[in-house]
Amino acid sequence: MPTSRRALIAANWKMHLLRQEAKGFCQRLRSRLAETDHADVVLFPSFTLLPTVAEQLAGSAIAWGGQDVHEAAKGAHTGDVSAAQLADVGATWALCGHSERRQDHGESNDVVGRKAVAARAAGLLPLICVGETAEQRRQGATFEVLEAQLVAALAGGPWPFALAYEPVWAIGTGETASPEQAQEVHAFLREHLSRLLGAERGEKVRILYGGSVKPANAAGLFAQKDIDGFLVGGASLDADSFSDIIGSSGPG
Ligand code: PEP
Repeated sequence: MPTSRRALIAANWKMHLLRQEAKGFCQRLRSRLAETDHADVVLFPSFTLLPTVAEQLAGSAIAWGGQDVHEAAKGAHTGDVSAAQLADVGATWALCGHSERRQDHGESNDVVGRKAVAARAAGLLPLICVGETAEQRRQGATFEVLEAQLVAALAGGPWPFALAYEPVWAIGTGETASPEQAQEVHAFLREHLSRLLGAERGEKVRILYGGSVKPANAAGLFAQKDIDGFLVGGASLDADSFSDIIGSSGPG
């Protein structure tokens, strides 16, 4: 539960939804959130949906961004999208280093760090994702893996940014980290952030939890001291369940 930090709840739509569905989602979300002002909300739709989402969210406090961003400012990178191109259509955020990007596209820790710098250079806020696999956790390497991901992600000095802890074994599996498991990692990340950035900045970074978050488990996770919000995949595809998660991430 954030103290001085404002809650941040993000939707990762992955490769889902068509324009009409995105339009309906935004309209429903706006009506559900009309009274909500305890949290920042950001949507990460596919690139093709960005103009639709921009149009539907105009005049609202709901932000949106790209699910990925290239590390270069421009150039011969077929199929990629630059931070300036995202900013040009009104995005204010960029996801960097989601585990599906790391797995499907071989993104290394260093590449993720350069993406975060590229995002900041265009004025976007990076939401940097870190997380261990089931095998790494079994081997007792969780903290070592997270430290390497974090150090590389911050090597270029991006600031400000938000961080998402997403254990790979909990993404899309229905298996959520327990509130205690998640808090243990979030506390480790907070301590490490303070060591890398200084206590003042370390305390400011919002650390989101991601991995099978649903309306039923959100409140228990959010009650943890170092969990400042969520990055939600599957349950963010339905405006009502996403709104319920936002509702559970409040003062209580
Ligand atoms: C994600 O894709 O970032 C995610 C956390 O997915 P899910 O909520 O479906 O586990």
